[in-house]
Amino acid sequence: MKKFVYCFGNGEAEGDASQTELLGGKGANLAEMAQIGLPVPPGFTITTECCNQYLNSGGVYPDQLQEEVQAAMIMVEKIMDMKFGDPESPLLVSCRSGGRQSMPGMMETVLNVGLASSTIPGLIKKTGNERFVYDAYRRLIMMYSDVVMEKAEGIEPEDGHGVRAQLDRMLGAVKKARGYESDTDLSTEELKVLCEQFKLRVKETLGSEFPDTPEDQLWGAIGAVFKSWNGKRAKSYRRIENIPDDWGTAVTVQSMVFGNMGDTSGTGVAFTRNPATGENLFYGEWVPNAQGEDVVAGIRTPNPLNNETKNDQNDHLPSLSDAMGADVYGELDNVRDTLEKRYKDMLDIEFTIQDKKLFMLQCRVGKRTGTAALNMAMDMLEEGLIDKNTAIMRVKPLQLNELLHPIVDPEAEKTAVLITKGLPAGPGGAQGRIVFTSEDAVELTKQGRSAILVREETSPEDVEGMRAAKGILTARGGMTSHAALVARGWGKCCIVGAGALEINAKAKKLKVNGKTYVEGDIITLNGSRGLVYEDRIKMMDATKNPRLAAFMQMVDESRTMGVRANADTPEDARQAKEFGAEGIGLFRTEHMFYGANSEAPLFLLRKMILSENQKERESALEDLYPFVKSTIKNTLEEMNGMPVTIRLLDPPLHEFVPHMKDMQVELAKVLDIDLAEVRKRCDALQETNPMMGHRGVRLGITYPEITKMQLKAILESAAELINEGKNPIPEIMVPVTCDVKELNITKIIFDQIYPEVYANHGLKSINIKYGTMVETPRAALLGDKMAETAEFFSFGTNDLTQLTFGFSRDDTGGFMNDYLEKGIIGVDPFQSIDTSGVGELIKIAVERGRATRKDIKIGICGEQGGDPASVRFCYKAGLDYVSCSPFRVPIARLAAAQAAIMEAK
Ligand code: ADP
Ligand code: MG
Ligand code: MG
Repeated sequence: MKKFVYCFGNGEAEGDASQTELLGGKGANLAEMAQIGLPVPPGFTITTECCNQYLNSGGVYPDQLQEEVQAAMIMVEKIMDMKFGDPESPLLVSCRSGGRQSMPGMMETVLNVGLASSTIPGLIKKTGNERFVYDAYRRLIMMYSDVVMEKAEGIEPEDGHGVRAQLDRMLGAVKKARGYESDTDLSTEELKVLCEQFKLRVKETLGSEFPDTPEDQLWGAIGAVFKSWNGKRAKSYRRIENIPDDWGTAVTVQSMVFGNMGDTSGTGVAFTRNPATGENLFYGEWVPNAQGEDVVAGIRTPNPLNNETKNDQNDHLPSLSDAMGADVYGELDNVRDTLEKRYKDMLDIEFTIQDKKLFMLQCRVGKRTGTAALNMAMDMLEEGLIDKNTAIMRVKPLQLNELLHPIVDPEAEKTAVLITKGLPAGPGGAQGRIVFTSEDAVELTKQGRSAILVREETSPEDVEGMRAAKGILTARGGMTSHAALVARGWGKCCIVGAGALEINAKAKKLKVNGKTYVEGDIITLNGSRGLVYEDRIKMMDATKNPRLAAFMQMVDESRTMGVRANADTPEDARQAKEFGAEGIGLFRTEHMFYGANSEAPLFLLRKMILSENQKERESALEDLYPFVKSTIKNTLEEMNGMPVTIRLLDPPLHEFVPHMKDMQVELAKVLDIDLAEVRKRCDALQETNPMMGHRGVRLGITYPEITKMQLKAILESAAELINEGKNPIPEIMVPVTCDVKELNITKIIFDQIYPEVYANHGLKSINIKYGTMVETPRAALLGDKMAETAEFFSFGTNDLTQLTFGFSRDDTGGFMNDYLEKGIIGVDPFQSIDTSGVGELIKIAVERGRATRKDIKIGICGEQGGDPASVRFCYKAGLDYVSCSPFRVPIARLAAAQAAIMEAK
C-alpha cells in the first residue's frame, strides 16, 4: 500500500529535500530542516499522490488517509505535549499548500486550525493571553471562510465582495471608529466582539455556519488546500510557467507557533544573501507581534532584520537583535550558516519567534537577479562552498542580459504606471520621448535627447531612426519581425506587437486604452518583459561587473561548442569580438543598403534590379563592386584570423523596388529609359509570395554575373589582406538552396575566378571554404547530396522554421499567441528551435551530411542560435558552433558550457 503521510519533527523526518515531487517543495524542505536539527515545529506532509487521488475521485479521501493522519497527529501531539481538540491543552495546526515548484501566492494556507468553542477557554488558560487567542481566532475565521468555505466551494464573488474582503472591511471599520493605526491596537474585548460578528457575516454571506469542531476544520482545510491546486489563479499560473496539471500539491499539517503573542514574538522572512546584489549579507524583514502573511501583506512597515537591511522606510524601527536581544538574532544567523552549508546555495527562509524562541517554518532556494546570481556563484566558489561546474550552472544564460544592458529598476517598476504590453523583443530598458518617424528619431537624437521610436511596424527604411532611438516600440509584428531582429542584433531595447496601440503617425499621437499620448511625451520601455510605462522610471546601470570576465573565462574553459556572431558591419564585428565571438557565422552584405551612407549602393542595387539585360546589369554591378568589396574586406580584416561566413546576396527584392517617384525618375535617367518603363519593370518585380520568390541562390542561377561579382569581391579582399600580412578566413555561403546542383552551378563560377585571383596576387592558395545555408526542408533531407559539394552547413533556422511549419515569418502576429495559449505549440518556434519538427530536420541533415563528408563543419545562424534551449539542442545534435547576434554571444557561450556540463552528467 502506498504511504500517504510523512512525519517530521524532533530532529527526525521521513523525507528530505530531494523529495519535492512527493512532498512538495515546502514539505521536503521542512523535513530536511528537521533532520539537520533546526527548530522546526513538528508536523506531517500528505503527499501530492494523495492530492491527485483526491482530485481525480471528485473529492473523496483515500480510505487509509484518516488512519495515517491520526497516527501522525499522535506523533506531533507527543512532541508538543498538547492534543488536537483537547479542551485543556489544545494543539493548533496550520494546513499549508506546497507544490513541487514554488507558485508564489497561487495556492492556499490556513493557520490556527483547531480553535473552536471547546478549545478557546483551554488555550486562554494555558497561555494566559486572551487577546492573543482571539487574535488567532479572528485570523482563522478570515482565512478559513475564504479558503475553505468560499474558494474551495467554487464560489466566485464579484471583485471586492468576497467574504475575506468583507471581513477585512469590518476590521477596518473598527480600527477607523477607534482611531487605531494597527491591528495590534485592538483590545481583547474588541477582538472578541469582532469574532462573533465575523461568524454572523460568514453565515449571511456563505449560507453555512462556521465549523465549530477542530476535526471538521482540519479535514475541511486539508481538502481545500488540495482543491486550491485547481483554483483559477493556480491554473493560469501553471499555463504560463509550463507546469503540468498532474503534479498536484502536498498538504503540510504543522503545529502552530505564534508570532502574535506580544512584543517578544514576531514573524519574518529573510534571504541568506542579498537577492538583488548577491552581497554576502543576511538580508530580511520581520514584524513584531504578528502572524504569517503580515510581513509580506504590507499592512505594517516591516522592521529591518539587522543594520545591514536598514533603509529609508524602516530606519526608525528596531532590528531583530535590538528588539529581541543578540541571542535570538545570533541563533537565526547560525541557522543561516547551517542552511547554506547544507544546500550550498542562497536560501529564502520564513521564521517565527514565539516569546523569544526561534522556529523555522520554510526554506527554499531563493530567486535572484542576474547580478546577484553572478556574484553569488563567484563568492561561493571562492568560499569553497561549490565547485566550478556548479558555479557555471548557477547563472541562467538569459540573466546575463541584465549585466550587458541598462535595465529598469525592478523596485521603481512596481509603482510605475503601465501603459500597455507587447512582446519582449530587445532586452534591457530604455526611456525617452515618443517620436513617430525615423527622421524625427534622428533629429531628436541630434539635439542630444533620447527618442523612443513608435511605429506601426518598422521597415528597412526606418533603420537609421532605429539606430538613433534609445528604444523601439511597434504595434504589430512578432519576435522575428524586422524591428525585433534589428533591435536584438544591436542589443537595443525593443517591444513589438503591442496590439493595443492605435498609432496615428500623421497626427503624431497615439491612443491606448482610452488615453492619448503625443510626440514628445516621455515613456519607459522594459524590453526584457515587454512592458511600456508612463514617464521616466529609475534605471539601473549595467555596471561592468569585473567578475563577469572571470566568470566567462571559466565558462569558456568548460565549453566545447564554438560560438560565433551574426554581424553585418565591421563595427558589429568588433562588438562581437568584445563579447567573445570566435568568428562570424553570418555576414550579410545587404546591410550596406540600409542606413547611413547607403544612398549610393542602394541606388546601384536598384539599378541592378531594374536592369533588363545583362549589359545593363553588368554595368550596375561594376559600379556596385567597390562597395561590396570594401565592406567585405574591412570585416575580414577586423576578424583577422577568425572565420567569416559571407552569405551571397539574398536581397528581398520587394523591399528594394523603388516606390518613390523621384527615385524612379532618377533611375529612368540613369538607365536611359522613360518613367513608364521603370514603372513597368517595378511592377514586373512584384511577387505574390516574395519569401518563396526569386531570392537566394535562385537570383544567381538566373543572373550568374551577380554571383560572379560577389565571389570576386570576396577572393580579392582575401588575397589583398594576405599580401598585407593578414590572415583572412572567408567562408562562402550560398543561401536558400534546395539541391546540390544549385551549389554546383555556382561552384563553377568560383572555380573559374579562384585560380585567377590568387595567381594575380602571386599566391598559391587562399584559405577558403565553400558551403551552404540549410534553410529549406529539402536541403536538409538531401544533406548527403548537398555535402558532396558543401564543405559546411549552416542552418538558417528562420527560413527553415518558416518553411517547415508553413508559417510566414512576418505574419505570425495574427495567430502565434492563440497557438501558444491553446497549447498547440509550447514556444514560439522562431525564438526557440522546434525540436520535434525543425530539430528532426537538423538531425537528419547532420547525420546525412557527415555520412558523405566526415569533417563537414556544421553550425546554425538563425535567430534561435542565441536561445539557451536551442543552444543545448545544437550541442546534443553535434553542431560545431552556434552563431547569434553580438549581444547574445555571452548568453550562447554560457548556454553551451551548461549544455556540456549537463550532458556529461
Ligand atoms: P505560502 O506558500 O503562501 O508562503 P505558507 O504555507 O508558507 O504559505 O504560510 C503562510 C505564512 O504562514 C508563512 O509566512 C508562515 O510563516 C506562516 N505559517 C505557516 N504555518 C505556520 C505554523 N505552523 N506556525 C506559524 N506560522 C505558520
Ligand atoms: Mg511561505
Ligand atoms: Mg534566409
